[in-house]
Amino acid sequence: MQIQDLKQLIINAGIEKNEASIELKMLLEHFCNYTEKDLILGKPLSDNDINIIKEKISERINNRTPIQYIIGEAWFMGNKFKVSPDVLIPRDETELLVTRAIEIINNNSFLDVLDIGTGSGCIACTIAKNTQATVLGIDISSDALRIALDNVTKLGINNRAIFRKSNLYEKIRDGEKFDVIISNPPYIPFNTELSLEVQKEPALALFADKNGLSFYETIIKNAPQFLNEDGYIMFELGINQSSAVKEMMEQNFEEITIEKDFANIDRVIYGKLKNI
Ligand code: GLN
Repeated sequence: MQIQDLKQLIINAGIEKNEASIELKMLLEHFCNYTEKDLILGKPLSDNDINIIKEKISERINNRTPIQYIIGEAWFMGNKFKVSPDVLIPRDETELLVTRAIEIINNNSFLDVLDIGTGSGCIACTIAKNTQATVLGIDISSDALRIALDNVTKLGINNRAIFRKSNLYEKIRDGEKFDVIISNPPYIPFNTELSLEVQKEPALALFADKNGLSFYETIIKNAPQFLNEDGYIMFELGINQSSAVKEMMEQNFEEITIEKDFANIDRVIYGKLKNI
């Protein structure tokens, strides 16, 4: 058995051809140190390597475990993050939100950012790495925060991204204020049908009441008391949520901007605190 046969095992389980190639490359690189270059040069795999990869492929196709959970890592904006089933796998769509946040933070020389529902810490760590700001990441899940802390070490940004266990604003202290509040909250309505892979991600990170809008509502309603003057609120959006979220923002925020992702879906919304 060689590379092509291994790939065929994945394809036979109903995983699309290109996706199968990508996943096999990820497994080879992670578990066998077998690089893209080795692949191009047609370096043979040892029996031991083949057995390891076969075992990982079984885990992938029998349990429908996402490949990122099997290797324990995922790429986000050019950095590798530790992930586990305790955290959502970072998505390409979230890169749009974080790219825009970095621009806004740098253009305004902002120094304090709050990331609500930080999960793996991918948003908090990437902002800390690319700006002068200190980012406080909060999450209700201690297991998620353990992963986020590992990611701070992995990215070498000690003290610039810090974490606290908090259910939304619950543990934000009186007088503690931020220039930007950012969140990629759970936004999938309960009872939505999801792929088996997505079902392996933490329900806590996926689902929200009120047709997926409950976290936006609470975050937006309470944001003014935690924002500095001229501060921003920024979110990732689920499908068809932009107008409802915009409406929630209009009372206290201005210059509201919505941006589309590569699939032409309204994916990011942000606005500036009104001066009263
Ligand atoms: N903030 C994390 C991310 O963007 C987690 C988001 C979530 O769990 N809903 O990946």
